[in-house]
Amino acid sequence: MPEGLEAEIWRVAASPLVGRTVSDVWVDERVASVGLRDAVVGAEIAGVDRVGKVLVVEMQTSTGRTKLGLHFGMTGRLVVDGDAAIERLEYASGADRPSWDRLRLWTERDHRPADVPSLRLNDPRRLGRISLDADLTQLGPDALTLTSAELRRRLSGRRVAIKTALLDQSVVAGLGNLCVDEVLWTAGIAPHRPSDRLDAAEVTAIARACRRRLPVMLRRGGSTMGELTPELRRVAGDCPLDGTPLTRSKVGGRTTVWCPHHQL
Ligand SMILES: [Zn+2]
Repeated sequence: MPEGLEAEIWRVAASPLVGRTVSDVWVDERVASVGLRDAVVGAEIAGVDRVGKVLVVEMQTSTGRTKLGLHFGMTGRLVVDGDAAIERLEYASGADRPSWDRLRLWTERDHRPADVPSLRLNDPRRLGRISLDADLTQLGPDALTLTSAELRRRLSGRRVAIKTALLDQSVVAGLGNLCVDEVLWTAGIAPHRPSDRLDAAEVTAIARACRRRLPVMLRRGGSTMGELTPELRRVAGDCPLDGTPLTRSKVGGRTTVWCPHHQL
């Protein structure tokens, strides 16, 4: 599923839209805020930002600013000016059917409406959504810039498996299943450890793994580009660090791959 890293790739891909005027919008009303089309047509795209897994398109309308939040769910992906910055997602089919579109947004450039939508959100399973005036206040600090102090504060008073805590977007924003497994593997922490039983050094190791490991995966192309590759995860092969056979289990209902030798 798309994680914060995929949203970051789409943020960069969508940034050339800044300064353009929205000429038309079509949304699948089952997954969009009421009144979205009316609020956005005629607005100027003032900025493209990202908070966790959410892409935020800032719009300047005649009456003020509004934020369009694109939530990608399990299988959503973004197509900008006809180009998909990420062709294939791990859990998506790779096919692109127009009937899976949930948002089409056209802009005009040089007073000419473009033929293809400038933004398309294509989502086969329809678990994503498009929100107007997106409320992002419930999200925790972003994983890419997470500090030890922030993580320690967010974990205090929570007693769940550390993997479950890290998947909670109000604790840390942007991590999904693949990135959490990669971060815990990098930090050497077992995924089922109770979140309130980690010592300061272990919390620091997790925050540092987020800041150091995630940018490497981002440069390589996203959440599927960890050392725990999708192939390695499928077969539960050997730990790339020490050669121990990896364990494949469920933590909080999510498939989890980890090394029983160096993740303690
Ligand atoms: Zn290992």
